[in-house]
Amino acid sequence: MDRLPDTREALETLTTRVRACRICAEQPIGSPLPHEPRPVLLPSSTARILLAGQAPGTKVHLSGMPFTDASGDRLRSWLGVSAQEFYDTENFAIVPMGFCFPGQDAKGGDLPPRRECAPAWRAQLMALMPQIDLILTIGGYAQSWHMAAARGASLTETVRNWRNVWDAQGGGPKVLPLPHPSWRNTGWLKKNPWFEMDLLPFLRSEIRYRIE
Ligand code: SF4
Repeated sequence: MDRLPDTREALETLTTRVRACRICAEQPIGSPLPHEPRPVLLPSSTARILLAGQAPGTKVHLSGMPFTDASGDRLRSWLGVSAQEFYDTENFAIVPMGFCFPGQDAKGGDLPPRRECAPAWRAQLMALMPQIDLILTIGGYAQSWHMAAARGASLTETVRNWRNVWDAQGGGPKVLPLPHPSWRNTGWLKKNPWFEMDLLPFLRSEIRYRIE
């Protein structure tokens, strides 16, 4: 599905502005980014599926491409797509909640997405991707933004309620909640086998329906 040229051009123009963004270096809320900004996102004026992730980690910060790490490998296996299908912007728009690697805490864990980012850019980007009809919210930050009313008291509760959320949605894009595909969630996957048995087959069929 192609968009009107003016919408496509407006998205390209906005994406160029985002890639030049220096808010977290020059007008940060609290501490500035501990490195030069490097926004990593792949918006699309044609894809029907939006991957709303969290923020780049160290490998993605270096590569400049989303999900070029073990989390990306796991996410592609959840979606049932090849790397080629994943990075095809006819198939997926990839727009995380924070576009720059936020740095790490004292224990070496990634910090949360920069809180400056979504308020500055997200609504504008979403307005220029009206063809999106499925949003995969990957982790709590994306769930708070895109499905706040259906968010449970915990990530497990939010994801476990996926079918009710799906069935209750009327107009606008469908939304499915996912945990983050990080290795840190391997224990969560073991404790919640329904995720791989019930949610993933449904997810894969919805993906195939939209990319083939
Ligand atoms: S995280 Fe977002 S708001 Fe902050 S510098 Fe990067 S693009 Fe700009």
